[in-house]
Amino acid sequence: MIDLTSSLLKALLKHAHNPIIIFKIKPVLVVVEHNDAYQALIARIGGNLKFYDVDIIPTLLSDEERDLLINAVQQVSEFKKPVSLVIHPIYSNSPNVKWELEFSPVLQNDHPVEYIICSLKEVPVNENDLERILFELSESEARFRGFFEQAPLGMCVLRGPDLITEYANDNILKLWGKTRKEVIGIPQEQARPELAKQRHILNRVKEIFKTGAPLTLNELKISTAAFDGYFVALYQPLKNDKNEITRILAIIKDITEEVNFKKELLKAKDILKLAMDASEMGSWNVDLESKKVLLSERAQQIYELENNRMGLEEAKGMIAKADFEVLSASIRKALHNRSAFNVEYQINLKSTANKTKWLRTAGKAYYNADGKPVYIAGAVLDITEHKQDELRKNDFIGMVSHELKTPLTSLSAYVQLLQFKLKETENSFAIDTLDKVNLQLKRMSLMIDGFLNVSLLESGKILLNKTDFDVIALIKSIAEENRIVLPSHFIQVIGTEQTIVNADMEKIGNVISNLIGNAAKYSKKDSFIAIKCEKTDNEVIISVEDEGIGIKENNIPRLFDRFFRVDSAITKTIAGFGVGLYICAEIIKRHEGKIWVESKFGKGSTFYFSLPVEQTIAP
Ligand code: ADP
Repeated sequence: MIDLTSSLLKALLKHAHNPIIIFKIKPVLVVVEHNDAYQALIARIGGNLKFYDVDIIPTLLSDEERDLLINAVQQVSEFKKPVSLVIHPIYSNSPNVKWELEFSPVLQNDHPVEYIICSLKEVPVNENDLERILFELSESEARFRGFFEQAPLGMCVLRGPDLITEYANDNILKLWGKTRKEVIGIPQEQARPELAKQRHILNRVKEIFKTGAPLTLNELKISTAAFDGYFVALYQPLKNDKNEITRILAIIKDITEEVNFKKELLKAKDILKLAMDASEMGSWNVDLESKKVLLSERAQQIYELENNRMGLEEAKGMIAKADFEVLSASIRKALHNRSAFNVEYQINLKSTANKTKWLRTAGKAYYNADGKPVYIAGAVLDITEHKQDELRKNDFIGMVSHELKTPLTSLSAYVQLLQFKLKETENSFAIDTLDKVNLQLKRMSLMIDGFLNVSLLESGKILLNKTDFDVIALIKSIAEENRIVLPSHFIQVIGTEQTIVNADMEKIGNVISNLIGNAAKYSKKDSFIAIKCEKTDNEVIISVEDEGIGIKENNIPRLFDRFFRVDSAITKTIAGFGVGLYICAEIIKRHEGKIWVESKFGKGSTFYFSLPVEQTIAP
C-alpha cells in the first residue's frame, strides 16, 4: 500500500518540475495526490474548473483522445507497465500546446495495480499538429449540433494579419459561396475578392493582432454571390503559448430575418407617423401602473396642454360629464374582451374656461405575461369641426322635417275630409284619385318621419318608453298591416308562442315594419317574406327573410350607417335615403340588442335583431 502521507513522496512531488498526478483506480478513478506544478497548470488552463476534479482532463479532450486516455489507464493497470500518450487539451485555455503524459503503475509485489502516477509535460504544437487540432475543432461542432441547427453559426479561424483561412465550417463556406479548397491556406482578400468593398471591416479585424481586443460587428451587411443579408460577427483573438496573438476565431450569425423585421417595423412606424401627421391625429399612452398619461406633440396640441404628461385623474377630469360613463364603459368592455374601443366624447379645456372640444379616440390595452393590462395606447382626433357641421346639418334636417310635417298634416286632414264628403257621391274617379293621394301622403309622411327620427336620434332626444308586451302579437299585427299596404308579397309569420319582452313597443314595431318594407322594396313581386321569432335563454331573435336581390359582402359592414345606400343599377331605380336601417340599428342599440344581416347576392337576405330578455319575466 502506498503511503500518501510519506514525507519522501511529498518532497518528491513538490520538487518535481513537471505536473504530477497520482490516481487511485478503484472503486472509481480519482486524483488522490498532485503537485504544485499540476495545480498551477490547471489553474492556468482550466478556467473555472476546480483543479482537484478528476474529470477535468477528459473534459478538455476530444472524444477520440478521451478514449485513448481511458485505454492507457486500463493498460497500465492490466499489464503493470508504463504507457506514454500525447494528447491535446483543445478545449482548454491553451489549445496550442500538447501534453506528453507518462503513466506508471505503482507496483506492490503481486498485488493488482491500485495507484498510477502520471507525469505531464507541455510541449508546443507544430504546424501539422495544429491542422489536426483545427480538424478536431470542426469535429467538436458535433457536440453543439442541436445549438447549431437552431441558430446556424458560421465559424472560421484566420491566421496572421493576412487573414489566411485555416479552418472554415460548412455554414460559413455556404455563406461565402466557396468550397473548402478555394479558401483554406489562402488570404481572405485573395480568396474572396468581393471583400475589396469591405476593406474598412478587414482593417478593423487586422487591428486585433495589434490591440488584442475582441471585436463585435452588429448588423454587418454581407453581399456575396450566394448570400445577401445581415450578420452579427464576433472576432476573438487566439494566443499561442508565448501569449502572442497568432489567429482570430470568427463566429458569424445570420440575423437577416431579425434586421428585415426591424426594418419593416421602422417602415410601418414611419408610415403610421406620416398617416397620423396627415390626418392630424395624435397618440397617447396610459401607464396603468403609474397612472400617468403620455401625449404625443399633436395630442398635446389637441388637449391644449403645456405639458405632454398628466395624471390619469387629471385626464379623466377633462372629460365632459355627459360622456364620461359612455367612455369608461367602452374602455371597461374593451379590457374585458381584450378588444379595441372607438368612442366620441367631449372635453372641457383647461386652457380656456368654458371651451369644449369634440374628440374621437380609438385605443387598445396591452397585457403583460400574466395577462394583466399594463398600458392602454391609442390615437385621438379633434372632430369638433366635423361634429359642429353634423349638429348644424341635424338641426337643419330636424327643422325642415318639422316644418314640412305641419302642412302635410293639414293636407292629410283635408284629404280625409274630402274622402268623407265624396262617400256621399257616386264620383268613383274622384274617390279613386283621393285614395291614391292619401297613399302618397302616407309615404311622404313616413319619409319625413324618418328624417325627423334621425335628427332626434343624433341630438339624443329619442327616449325609450319600455313596457312588457308580447312580441309575437306585435309581429302579427304589423304583418297584417303590411299585407294591406304590400299586396304584392306573401308575408308569413313563423312562431306562435307568446314571447314577452320589455321594450319600447312602438319603436320595435317601427323596426319590424322597416325591415318588412325593405324586404318588399328589394325583392320581386309575388315573392315570400318570412318573419320569425325565436327565443333563447337570454334573448329573443326576430328575423325578416326575403327572396330579393341580396347584398354583396363588401357592402354589409356599412349597411347600417347613416345615409348609406348600395350603389347598383337596381338600387338606383328604387327610392330611398339610406336612413331606415340606421334608425333600426340605433333603436336596437338603445335596447342593448344586436342587429345584423346574412345575405346571398342574387338570392335574398335575412335581417336579424335580438332583444335581451330577463329570466325573471313570467311568460
Ligand atoms: P333605403 O332603403 O331607404 O335606401 P335603408 O337604410 O333602409 O335605406 O337601407 C340601406 C340600403 O341597404 C338600401 O339602400 C339597400 O341597398 C340595402 N338594403 C336594405 N334592405 C335590403 C334588403 N332586404 N335586400 C337588399 N338590400 C337591402
